[in-house]
Amino acid sequence: MNIGVLALQGDFAEHISVLRKLGVEAHEVRLPQDLEKLDGLIIPGGESTTIGKLAVAYELMEPLKRFGTEKPLWGTCAGAIFLSKDARREQPLLGLMDITVARNAFGRQIDSFETDLDVDVLKRVDENNPPYHAVFIRAPLIESVKGEAQPLATLEDGRVVAAQQGHLLATSFHPELTSDDRFHRYFLHMVDA
Ligand code: GLN
Repeated sequence: MNIGVLALQGDFAEHISVLRKLGVEAHEVRLPQDLEKLDGLIIPGGESTTIGKLAVAYELMEPLKRFGTEKPLWGTCAGAIFLSKDARREQPLLGLMDITVARNAFGRQIDSFETDLDVDVLKRVDENNPPYHAVFIRAPLIESVKGEAQPLATLEDGRVVAAQQGHLLATSFHPELTSDDRFHRYFLHMVDA
């Protein structure tokens, strides 16, 4: 299995390292031709405006949109924003997922937090399915989930922090920053499906 990680900005190295630990061929993606031969792609956390501007500059917008219509794509945090149709402000977006996101919905850097989530779909990779410890850093909230998109995880108050739309996955939090690799394995399961 060949998985790419968009390596324009943000914490792509952490995703690469989780993938390699799982025995997957992981590749940094910076140019359109880097997308060839990939089975799936992860867009990391970072700063979604910067990732978007660099994707425009490197002529990656159309190739990424095309990739996302055909193959599994997972966005974490800024990556989730970049996948969305609407971030309620002007910035380059792939517009692949029928979700509206609110950037920095939990406040500033000091308002970053960690919490346990119950994520039903993780049963597919671990039948015991203990709570998933999620790290939120200047995270977006998935404010609305429409069309084919489905919520996958919510906070205790019901606000959505993970969603899936067919072969597209969005998480507000950072699974690459914890040692729990279930979300990566779940994505690999999507790629394999
Ligand atoms: N606050 C960033 C944004 O709006 C996302 C932060 C992150 O990826 N950890 O793009």
